Amino acid sequence: MHILILGGTTEANELSALLAQHPHIKATLSYAGRTQNPTLPTIPCRIGGFGGVAGLAAWIREHSVSAVIDATHPFASIMPFNAASACQQTGIPLLALTRPEWKPEQGDNWQQVQNHHEVLNTLGQPPQRIFLTVGRLEIDRYAAAPQHFYIARTIDPVAPQPLPNAVWLTGRGPFTVEGERELLKNHNATVVVTKNSGGKATKAKLIAARELGLPVIMVARPPKPDVKTTHSAAQAMEWIARTHKASL
Ligand code: NAP
Repeated sequence: MHILILGGTTEANELSALLAQHPHIKATLSYAGRTQNPTLPTIPCRIGGFGGVAGLAAWIREHSVSAVIDATHPFASIMPFNAASACQQTGIPLLALTRPEWKPEQGDNWQQVQNHHEVLNTLGQPPQRIFLTVGRLEIDRYAAAPQHFYIARTIDPVAPQPLPNAVWLTGRGPFTVEGERELLKNHNATVVVTKNSGGKATKAKLIAARELGLPVIMVARPPKPDVKTTHSAAQAMEWIARTHKASL
């Protein structure tokens, strides 16, 4: 068997670590190549796009892939559909491994919106101090609202920096509630703008916002293809065993 993991997430790394304990299973972790210093797995990895559905299907055939796990980020909007089409074309099974969405809890003050355009409308004209954690590639969109001050945090540095009034922070989760509370207080944030990535590593900002009584504007996830889905690497391992009728 040869498992192809479409990665770029903690879940993909967790599954890679589990598969590394089974050296008789061939597995490859695929990165898009967006992050400058990705966490490298102990299983073989490849970096870069495949060239659309046709490229992915060709790679699957060429490397005798027997199953694909789509463990891309909840906000990856193209690759999940490419994976569904390529697996259908090549007749191999596909499992989506994704983290559950965050849900508002008691005391939260969230506004849930569909996209960044709606975020800007919701923010309105009066200047705000915005803790912005929407990912490096989405930050440009906020140049349309230069009246706000942005506390922008990304994994990799943003260059060039597209917002005139901003402090630029870098950091990779997991973050603590204490750390996030201090950050929000020190920068006098008035609102948190983020996207519903889900998971534990970056949830602390939501708890800190709740504690400080700050509103959160939450961008909803993009549509996904209708494929079998699991939320844990351990369950993905069970699926691999079932699919290949193997005992892991
Ligand atoms: P996307 O819009 O779904 O994909 C765009 C293109 O990037 C795809 O068509 C594919 O190119 C290539 N690609 C995506 N994931 C890949 C993978 N794992 N291996 C090889 N090629 C891949 O995805 P995205 O939003 O640009 O995200 C890119 C990567 O960053 C993904 O691996 C995702 O898990 C990770 N990530 C994304 C976010 C986010 O907010 N979007 C956050 C954290 C991590 P080809 O068509 O040429 O194959």
